[in-house]
Parts: sequence; C-alpha cells; structure tokens
Amino acid sequence: MRNITPPVRNDVADYRTALAGRPIESRTLLVGYEDAIRAAYLSYEGDTINILALQSMALLDPAHAALLRENYSALSKGRALEELAADIYEAAEFRCPMCNFEQAATLDHFLGKGTYPEFSILARNLVAACNTCNNKKGARPSNGFVHAYFDQLPNQQALVAKTVWEPELHVSYSLAEGHGLELNLFERLFSQFQILRLEDRFAREGGYVLAEIMSSCAEPYGRGGSALVTAELSRQAGLCERVYGINHYKTALLRALAGDDHFCDGGFSSENG
Ligand SMILES: [Zn+2]
Repeated sequence: MRNITPPVRNDVADYRTALAGRPIESRTLLVGYEDAIRAAYLSYEGDTINILALQSMALLDPAHAALLRENYSALSKGRALEELAADIYEAAEFRCPMCNFEQAATLDHFLGKGTYPEFSILARNLVAACNTCNNKKGARPSNGFVHAYFDQLPNQQALVAKTVWEPELHVSYSLAEGHGLELNLFERLFSQFQILRLEDRFAREGGYVLAEIMSSCAEPYGRGGSALVTAELSRQAGLCERVYGINHYKTALLRALAGDDHFCDGGFSSENG
C-alpha cells in the first residue's frame, strides 16, 4: 500500500535488446511487430483506469503471443535485460509495494502477460513484489488491484489499526473510508486488501512487534507516566512513517497504541505479568 516511481527506461531499446538474444527466426518475426509494440507502449499511459481499459494487441498469429511472452526470460540473471529487472527492484527499494513490508523477490506483471504478451517486458508494467503477494495475485484480473506506479494514494492514513482487549491485547487492521480516496481507487484498494489477506498478515506481523513495543514502555512510564508513554509512541510512529510510509502496518500500530489510554497507563504490562 504505497506508491513508487517507475524506473526510467528506453522501452523500445529494451524490446530490441530482448530480440537480439533470440534465435534468428523468432527475431525476424518479432522485429516485424516493433511498430505495433511501440504503439502499445504509448497507450500504456495516463491513469490506471486507462491502463485497465486497454485491449490486448492484435497479433497475426496466436502463436506469436508465446514468442512475445518469452522475451521476459531476458530479465533473468546473466541475460541481456537483467539490468532492467535490477532497476525495477531498486525502484521499489526491494520492498513489496502491495503489502509494504515483505521483501520484493519477484516481478509482477500488472497486466498479466497471459492476456497482454506485448507488455511482458515493459518497465511500467513490471512491479517488484514479494512472493506472498505475487502468488495471491496470480492471474486474477488486474481491475482488483492498485497500480503502484500509476495510482496516487493520498498522503493520508488509509490503513487503520485498532486495539482490542479481550482481555488480552490484540490488534486488528482495516481500511478507513472517507479519507479523500476516489471511489474506484478505494474499491481496488479494498479488493487488494482482501485478496492479499492483508488483514491477517498485518495482524500477525503487528503481533510480533507488539511484544517488543510493550517491553519498551516501562522505562518512559517510570519517568513520566502515561503522558510520556503516549509521547514516546507518537514519536516512534512519526519515525516509522518517515521511513516506511503512512500506510505501513507498524506506523498504524504505533498510532493506535499511542491513542489507547489504557495501554499507555500501564496496560502495556498486562501480558508481561
Ligand atoms: Zn507483498
């Protein structure tokens, strides 16, 4: 749940580089598609609504789709376009933009290369993703997902953590409505949240860091009571926001804890005893 800036690439040059490594027959055939590819690349612009509405390119022969798709293998290690893959990982700072916490170890085709083989190596269509998110997204239609490059998430808290005492402390996560997101974007964000099972994944990660946070509260509490615990948690939330963004599970967790009077007034030690 965060935006990233796509790497700046010469897309047509990337296409030519991929072809250079192909056997002569495929290469000749794919060179014939260069103008159509260039036109398709130009159409992959504007906003996500426009991108989602794109028709797949007309091919002279259905078998040519497989040839276009195979260009993607040029991004593997040691192959002609490995630098393109590296640029995409770097653009995401190696952190998955969909969950915003797991390491990005795969590349996701925003428009799947099954339906859109012409975009198999287009930098703007390739987004670094973690294994978990990429597997859960799979070959699902892209209209249920946010495009990390093209959708602009407002710099407001959309991810909300809530403290639940029953009687032990748990944390639950949800998406907040009414924070200035246009409806279509909110719907896709919500759909992505469900498909990627972010509620459960955030709750699990939040649970791990919660224990750490709890054990760090005794010291400020001893010096300045609940007011100092609140201030300290808010300070940490600000730091976390600057490093990982406003919609990171830990930022949301720290804000929720800072706003929980019971937690700050000694409730943090309830699981320690
Ligand atoms: Zn992820």
